[in-house]
Order: sequence, then structure tokens, then C-alpha cells
Amino acid sequence: MDQDMTEAIIIDGVLLSKHLREDVSKRAAALTAMGRTPGLAVVLVGDNPASAVYVRNKVKACEQHGLSSTLDRLPATVTEAELLSRIRQMNEDPAVHGILVQLPLPGHIDSHKVIETIASEKDVDGFHVANAGALMTGRPQFRPCTPYGVMKMLKAYDIPVAGKHAVVIGRSNIVGKPMALLLLEAGATVTICHSKTADLSFHTKSADIVVAAVGKRNVVTGDMLKRGATVIDVGMNKNDEEKLCGDIDFPSVNRVAGHVTPVPGGVGPMTITMLLVNTLESAERAAQM
Ligand code: NAP
Repeated sequence: MDQDMTEAIIIDGVLLSKHLREDVSKRAAALTAMGRTPGLAVVLVGDNPASAVYVRNKVKACEQHGLSSTLDRLPATVTEAELLSRIRQMNEDPAVHGILVQLPLPGHIDSHKVIETIASEKDVDGFHVANAGALMTGRPQFRPCTPYGVMKMLKAYDIPVAGKHAVVIGRSNIVGKPMALLLLEAGATVTICHSKTADLSFHTKSADIVVAAVGKRNVVTGDMLKRGATVIDVGMNKNDEEKLCGDIDFPSVNRVAGHVTPVPGGVGPMTITMLLVNTLESAERAAQM
């Protein structure tokens, strides 16, 4: 059999991001013409190298697409009170439409308290309880960027969701839980799996859509899938050569799946794109007030 016939369609997060970012640039320019440039305020605490890279990419994406951005680099020794006070200033600043505090935070700072201090109408990550609750009740204000990006990918590739069985592996507040809610909102029958799930492949074998958001290599292999399933790889891990890789065993999954996202070039770029979209939409809402 021709090997090519059995390969999955690659969901290209770079290309889709490019299209979505063109739209962001146009809408940002329209707001700027009204004197209301969309603004993102980013806060980085400490010197975690991975966080520094994420933050730099977010700020750079803003610059490239006509959003203004500020980066507050605070030392790891900053007190919780000082950080909360800085966030309150940003809450009051009319030039700031989105506030993002890069996680994780140093152990002496309560990240829950930090997230709850961000004004919910500027919480472009969508982590504030008001936004989590709005998502839960079907009236989302900000959808968390990574799951929102995944939904855009499914839509762009005409992958049906309503009536389908979706398995989300991972139950974090940042990815797994909001992912499950968005799939539910779109009409899927959703199973959430996690580290205590007794038989992961029992669930994945009947899934039309599998989203892996675990942070461990090779959690999903081709023999765990139904032929033609869509597999979305959110994971970001390092392989033996210290190169970025996801949660799935790409070669075996690629032979069974109908659609698959690569790492890199899949969900990662979409996450930053959706941060731009959320910030832009926040600025558009503020302009209409
Ligand atoms: P997290 O908070 O560590 O959550 C991981 C989840 O995986 C937990 O719910 C855990 O279950 C579950 N899990 C662990 N081992 C498992 C196993 N063997 N089988 C099934 N489930 C298992 O991580 P996260 O923040 O959700 O992120 C997940 C991954 O996505 C990480 O690699 C992260 O770097 C990546 N990520 C990527 C992007 C992007 O833009 N591409 C954005 C965000 C995150 P328990 O709850 O039972 O512990």
C-alpha cells in the first residue's frame, strides 16, 4: 500500500495563525486610527528562562501586529503586596486592555490571589474565576488561549465536533478543563482523562477527537486510536536530543489519525495568536463603552 495514503493531514498552526494575525493587524489598525491602540501589559516575576522566552514571544507578537505592550520584569524577591499593587495600577490604566502575569510565580506568591486581582474584563488569559464561571455557564468573555486556539484549528479544518466523542487528557485549569468545556459547548460528548484514569486507551479508542495536554512524552500512541481520529497535541516536552516535542508518539499516530497537530508548529503558535485576539477584542469592547 502507498505509505502516503495512510498519513494524517497536518493541522498547520503556523499557517492558520498567519491568517488570524492578519485580521488582528487590520482590526488593531482600525482601533489605533480612533486613538485606541489595543494594549497588553505583561508581568514577569523572577528569571525562569522558559517564562522569559514565552514573555518575549508574546511582546514581540504584539509589536508585529499593531498592539502596544509593556513588560514589567520584577525580581523573584518582589513581595505579593507589591505585585498586587502593580496589577491594581494596570487595572486602572485605560491604555491597558489585557493583563497577563506569566505563570508559574515564585512560591511565596499566591498565584490564585494574583489572578483574582486582575480585573476580569482585562483577564485575557481567561483564568479569573469570573471568566472560568462565565465559560462554565456558556457565556464566555475570554476563552483561555490554548483551548480557544484548538477550537479555531478544528473549525479551520472542518473537523466536526457536534455529536462526536472527544477525549481530553489532562484536567488543569489552564488547558484540560477549559478545553473540555469548549468542546462541550460545541456539542461534543466529552470524556476527561487524567493521571488517575484506569485505562486511558479504553477511552481514546472510541474517540473522534483526542486532545493531549499532559506534559509527558508518548502518552498517546497510534494503537490507542480509532482510525481517522483527530489528534491535537498540546504538550511541550524535550526529547532525548533536547528538542521540543509533544505528548504524542507522532510517527505511530500519524499512521492512524485523520488529522494531527505537529510540535512545534501546531498548538504553540495558536496560543499566542489567541492572546492577541483576546486583547484586541477586549480593546474593541472598551471602545464601544
Ligand atoms: P499540568 O497542570 O501539569 O496538567 C497535566 C495533566 O496531565 C494533569 O491533569 C495530570 O493529571 C495529567 N496527567 C499526568 N500524567 C498523566 C498520564 N500518564 N495519563 C493521563 N493524564 C496524565 O499541565 P498543563 O498546564 O495543563 O499543560 C500540559 C502540557 O501542555 C504541558 O506540556 C505544557 O507545557 C503544555 N502547554 C502547552 C501550551 C502551548 O501553547 N502549546 C500551553 C499550555 C500548556 P492529574 O490532574 O491527575 O495530576
